[in-house]
Amino acid sequence: MSTPLQTPDREVWFLTGSQGLYGPETLDQVAEQSRTIAEALHATGAVGVRVVWKPVLTDADAIERMALAANADRACVGVIAWMHTFSPARMWIAGLDALRTPLLHLHTQANVELPWQTIDMDFMNLNQAAHGDREFGYIQTRMGVVRKTVAGHVSDPRVQARVGAWARAACGWAEARSLRLARFGDTMRDVAVTEGDRTEAQWRWGVTVNGYAVTDLAAAVHDSAGSDVDLLVKEYEETYDVVPELRRGGDRHDSLRYSAQIELGLRRMLEQSGANAFTSNFEDLASLRQLPGMAVQRLMADGYGFAGEGDWKTAALLRILKVAGERLPGGTSFMEDYTYHLGPGRPRILGAHMLEVCPSIAAGTPRVEIHPLGIGGREDPVRMVFSAVTGPGVVVGMSDMGDRFRLVANQVELVEPDEPLRSLPVACAVWEPAPDLGTSAEAWIMAGAPHHTVLSTAVTVEELHDLSEIARTELLVIDDSTTPRGFAQELRWNAAAYAAGVR
Ligand code: MN
Repeated sequence: MSTPLQTPDREVWFLTGSQGLYGPETLDQVAEQSRTIAEALHATGAVGVRVVWKPVLTDADAIERMALAANADRACVGVIAWMHTFSPARMWIAGLDALRTPLLHLHTQANVELPWQTIDMDFMNLNQAAHGDREFGYIQTRMGVVRKTVAGHVSDPRVQARVGAWARAACGWAEARSLRLARFGDTMRDVAVTEGDRTEAQWRWGVTVNGYAVTDLAAAVHDSAGSDVDLLVKEYEETYDVVPELRRGGDRHDSLRYSAQIELGLRRMLEQSGANAFTSNFEDLASLRQLPGMAVQRLMADGYGFAGEGDWKTAALLRILKVAGERLPGGTSFMEDYTYHLGPGRPRILGAHMLEVCPSIAAGTPRVEIHPLGIGGREDPVRMVFSAVTGPGVVVGMSDMGDRFRLVANQVELVEPDEPLRSLPVACAVWEPAPDLGTSAEAWIMAGAPHHTVLSTAVTVEELHDLSEIARTELLVIDDSTTPRGFAQELRWNAAAYAAGVR
């Protein structure tokens, strides 16, 4: 029942550039050394997916065929290229032009230390990435090839971290390209920022967004078998801290059973539609007796993307970032900026939602509770209540600016609430946004960034940056270096850049 969504086996290919001029003996050495580097990179575990070494490329035809093979292979989420020796870059034009798989240019070499005493002409000719990779950089830049450039030896933790972030972004991108999203209900009436161009999203990001009838969802919920409900309720009671009134024998146990029915029905609908992300809308619940709360929280914990009020952009982003962060410690949740603590002490944001915060960011075992919900006019919904972990995190939102999608990310520090939130009947997180609440909120609002976000303690700004590059989507980052004036300039420069078709 609570099996995480399966992501397929994924790999990145390790390509090595050279040329025929060196002769077979040198090319054998190139092959051996590049294979060693690829294996060393894989062995660090930093990449997260399999690093697959490919035979050394020495001519244009082989390079183009390799690019086309990478495009065609669904397991291959990215390509790492290293010019071990000199690989005249015109050989790469057709291949780079054809390549649609995310590219990382690894500027490295086999040796760490230069053998000062013994270096001879043979060694120099064998180990000349220092200029081979500059030639490769030239053609990539001239052709406007989107890639990440990482320089240094693979034994360097910084290099491993930079390559790892890119590989995670590439996994997120692979998920986006095949992501199906089910909407139950439209966007909340009159809300602007949750709207967006679904056709554009499918073209630019690959995400397919389709509507499904809430009446069908309600029918699936009400069709759930009693024995399945029994099992699921048992799981709830064993997994969480369920309040006595909801437990078997409690006054309101039926509400917990109904919540389990919602989970069973939702899962069935999502499995049938092949959707790994979904949205709901409290204004459109057909005959559902409760707004889905705990069911949504459980599905998010299993890896599904979700956002409320029909917000498919945030739901898609959540699924993509859950895939990017799936091998990392920490969690990733739907979030909404709710209310502020403006002082005393450092100003803070309290984030929550009506019900739907993912327990992957919970500090402890969630409590399962039932309380009235002020809006929607339904029965009281069951929900998991908890506070989020503390530590560094990132908050990111997506807006449709009309001519393009825009991502805005804010570095944050999750903190303990100043006092226990005894009366708050929902899960929440409290954080201090960088560089401070005033600057963060000013920049966020100037950027037209949304109130619905994804909060992650797993992925970082580096994965978001790499993903935005791969997706050719604007990313604005609010961090310790942000000032209101500088940020306003960045918005103006980006507007000019996009108007000029720079990206
Ligand atoms: Mn909302």
